[in-house]
Amino acid sequence: TMSTTDLRALIRDVPDFPKPGVGFRDITPVLASPEGFHAAVSGLTELSREYRPDHVIAAEARGFLFGPAVAAELGAGFVLARKPGKLPRETVSVEYSLEYGVDRLEVHTEAIGPGARVLVHDDLLATGGTARALCELVEAAGGEVVACAFLLELAFLDGRERLAGRPVHALLRDD
Ligand code: IMP
Repeated sequence: TMSTTDLRALIRDVPDFPKPGVGFRDITPVLASPEGFHAAVSGLTELSREYRPDHVIAAEARGFLFGPAVAAELGAGFVLARKPGKLPRETVSVEYSLEYGVDRLEVHTEAIGPGARVLVHDDLLATGGTARALCELVEAAGGEVVACAFLLELAFLDGRERLAGRPVHALLRDD
């Protein structure tokens, strides 16, 4: 399987996107590469396996790229965290702050049973706001966050600080 160096080389750094001064990591070439996609899914699976999750939870849209594949490899179910108004049955929701303003994520209440072991996933850990909201959703629904697993951590943003002691793993890290 592909080395982490080769996997990182598939992620393209795009300067000044979505606005001047911001460096964007474009992960779409990882998905476009059969070897890259496989390496990402198997790497995420291996660093998560020891936590024996019942479910993997991730937020739309980029959390839905690797999350379901990793869940299938782990023998876990996949739980969708969505923007407001998309899920048809009873939901729990959390509000979280963005750079400008606030947003909200929802999950079907019954998708996470009391005491369920849940792995939080996203493609990228930046400030940690999204992952923290996912952790709060899991806990509001009665589940336990056993770990958080990301493809790429932007370590210089200290996102893991916002995840407050929950185990955090990333396949790739930018310092
Ligand atoms: P955070 O909430 O600040 O940790 O931002 C993480 C969320 O924003 C994730 O859902 C990412 O998909 C997205 N995101 C932030 N920065 C980037 C980037 O440079 N490339 C791809 N996605 C990003």
